[in-house]
Amino acid sequence: MNPFVYNSHAARIVFGVGSVDRIAAEIERLGAERAVVLCTPHQRSQAEAIAKRLGDRAAGIFDEAEMHVPIEVARKARAAASALRADCAVAVGGGSTIGLGKAIALASGLPILAVPTTYAGSEVTSIYGLTEGGLKRTGRDDRVLPRTVIYDPSLTLTLPLSLTVTSAINAIAHAAEGLYAADGNPVISLMAEEGIRASAAALNPLTKDPSDLQARSDALYGAWLCGTVLGAVTMGLHHKLCHTLGGTFNLPHAQVHTVILPHALKYNAQAAPGAMRRIASALGSADAAAGVQDLARQHGAPVSLREIGMAASDLDHAADLAVSNPYPNPRPLERAALRALLQRAYDGASPG
Ligand code: NAD
Repeated sequence: MNPFVYNSHAARIVFGVGSVDRIAAEIERLGAERAVVLCTPHQRSQAEAIAKRLGDRAAGIFDEAEMHVPIEVARKARAAASALRADCAVAVGGGSTIGLGKAIALASGLPILAVPTTYAGSEVTSIYGLTEGGLKRTGRDDRVLPRTVIYDPSLTLTLPLSLTVTSAINAIAHAAEGLYAADGNPVISLMAEEGIRASAAALNPLTKDPSDLQARSDALYGAWLCGTVLGAVTMGLHHKLCHTLGGTFNLPHAQVHTVILPHALKYNAQAAPGAMRRIASALGSADAAAGVQDLARQHGAPVSLREIGMAASDLDHAADLAVSNPYPNPRPLERAALRALLQRAYDGASPG
């Protein structure tokens, strides 16, 4: 056993079908009386249903959450929370909406109760992101870690199947990189393996029947574990590449993760053989990288950057950005090898 430091990020997790019924009691438990409910325009009806459950404890709804938290939206949401005299934020949605809650908390310290409806995992991390002048800045701050998370699988029944698959692979990416993180530890590795297993195993039943509540529960359980890994240890090449591609070239978050993960794992395979064995075993595959790409293909997810809107002419710039700031990764970052990786990902080639 290698020496390690394990920092747990304590949040209260309330998990189960129907657990959203407990939201008023959970808000009370936080000592809050006026919640601003956050959502995207698309999820307004889910936010309204939650506001209704909150009754007098709902101060109002702010429904303008957007991908990557543009600073203008963050400022507007902070002003709305303040005008409503909110003493807590309830974020109902995926990483974009929870990210908006974090932007409010960063400025005001307002506690967040998160009700995740995708598998992105932001609800259990103290990582925030804000986009200003086309550049996404991320950081860690304990103020933005949601105090309570309500995981109710019934709220994920409306998640389209395509996003269900890519969001679950987004979750798997956190766990996969957690298994070779320089600051990893045995507890997080257990969570990572189980998170990959649960997320991957949920996809067969969900592809057959997206309303299978047991499989929805398994996927959300996997998302919680994988998100916890993301919040606890430092991510490497895969997350750096996805951050660059998503932020600079405006590619959709979960889809980018799905396309890049097999290639990032192959890049690191020889430098992290133990992690690769654990990832492969959790996927039920002989090989970690091929196993992830097979999972995507089997469930109709995109496997090329071309099909999710990347321009071939941007690949050189992307490779430059990927090596511009050093970050921990099992294998050193080599521009030529990364450019080749990006080409394979662009073409939808097998990871090799
Ligand atoms: P998202 O939150 O952008 O959601 C995508 C779309 O799906 C939105 O229109 C949303 O309203 C809709 N949607 C979500 N859940 C739904 C449901 N159950 N039913 C119907 N529609 C639903 O997507 P995401 O992938 O969850 O989040 C991506 C964002 O989160 C990115 O900006 C990413 O950087 C950030 N993120 C941050 C962290 C972190 O720790 N800070 C972690 C993961 C992701």
